[in-house]
Amino acid sequence: MSEDWRPRTRLVHAGTRRSHYGETSEAIFLTQGFVYPDAATAEARFIASGEDEFIYARYGNPTTRMFEDRIAALEGAEAAFATASGMAAVHGALFCQLQAGDHVVSARALFGSCLYIIETLLPRFGVEVTLVDGTDLDQWRAAARPDTRLFFLEALSNPTLEVIDIAGVAEIAHGVGAELVVDNVFATPILQRSLALGADVVIYSATKHIDGQGRCLGGVVLGRQDFVRGPLEGFMKHTGGAISPFNAWVLLKGMETLDLRCRAQAATAERIATEFPGTPGLARLIYPGLPDHPQHALAARQMETGGTMLALEIEGGKAGAFRFLDALRIIAISNNLGDAKSLVTHPATTTHQRLSAEQRAALGIGDGMVRLSVGLEDPDDLVDDIRQALAAV
Ligand SMILES: *Cc1c(COP(=O)(O)O)cnc(C)c1O
Repeated sequence: MSEDWRPRTRLVHAGTRRSHYGETSEAIFLTQGFVYPDAATAEARFIASGEDEFIYARYGNPTTRMFEDRIAALEGAEAAFATASGMAAVHGALFCQLQAGDHVVSARALFGSCLYIIETLLPRFGVEVTLVDGTDLDQWRAAARPDTRLFFLEALSNPTLEVIDIAGVAEIAHGVGAELVVDNVFATPILQRSLALGADVVIYSATKHIDGQGRCLGGVVLGRQDFVRGPLEGFMKHTGGAISPFNAWVLLKGMETLDLRCRAQAATAERIATEFPGTPGLARLIYPGLPDHPQHALAARQMETGGTMLALEIEGGKAGAFRFLDALRIIAISNNLGDAKSLVTHPATTTHQRLSAEQRAALGIGDGMVRLSVGLEDPDDLVDDIRQALAAV
């Protein structure tokens, strides 16, 4: 790869390793193992593997490495490690570097499984956790201690789309010698560069926009070479969170269209955001790209656009939200996001059902709230679909 390639060129070409056949499209190496020409080569490879030398697919595989190199090139990261799912990435990035006695500060508004790891699993292993309102820098500052190892946050929260000041939190973390780990899924690798904003480690569920067509699970952790090829790789290769080479190939090919998809989806999201405020049936619309979003100025500073996700507060609570969901004809009810197909979720009864009513209220998740992941359909058709569903509310 040439260092001066722009992101869209990197998305198509970075990381490509052609075999001696000179194939145009990247090959899928569906192999768990590798053979060695002689015993001495096997011995040498177990001591130190070179650039194009692999041992076992749980440690690495040529197709997986292409995906890792391509996303690292996009993010400007020194290295990446691909994982079986987004949660394997979150789990690995945290557990590979924490130990009993450490302290972690995390934003409270998290994806359900991330919250489980932070709030339930870490304390079970002796890690102390302080949860804060991620949008309030004073709370991060007050929670930081000399023994704080990590700060964790989702840059754009699920489903309320709160925006957290990454540069601000990074500065506080670095001030006490801690590192900042950012789950950047909602913001997408195209629309927000969290490493450039000061994050030390960035995580994706590649299941979302990176695949973008709802086909497979995958995840990736990005960061410095000494971290990714050191503690992270050591932890991942011995605990088994490796991605399937087939899934890595799907994600690698997904990256070729990632920029086009994210920008088209974000443009349609913005169109929907501006089209509906004031429409009967809709109490409130949350979109970071709108001037009435509480952190619009911050969103405009750290994201390229308002993103591909919206939250709609439907009138009439749960019953109203259900009428809206059931009336949609194109937009499907599903809890995935970042897909080519527009998808809608009712967080209070699905993704956030496990929380108590008080916890949901504290996170701003009302019974009428609906999360919309905008896809690649014709924007006019999506606008028509939402309009007729709001009329049914
Ligand atoms: C989906 C998601 C995850 C988990 O990813 P999987 O690929 O489903 O394991 C983690 N964080 C966020 C913000 C997500 O949206």
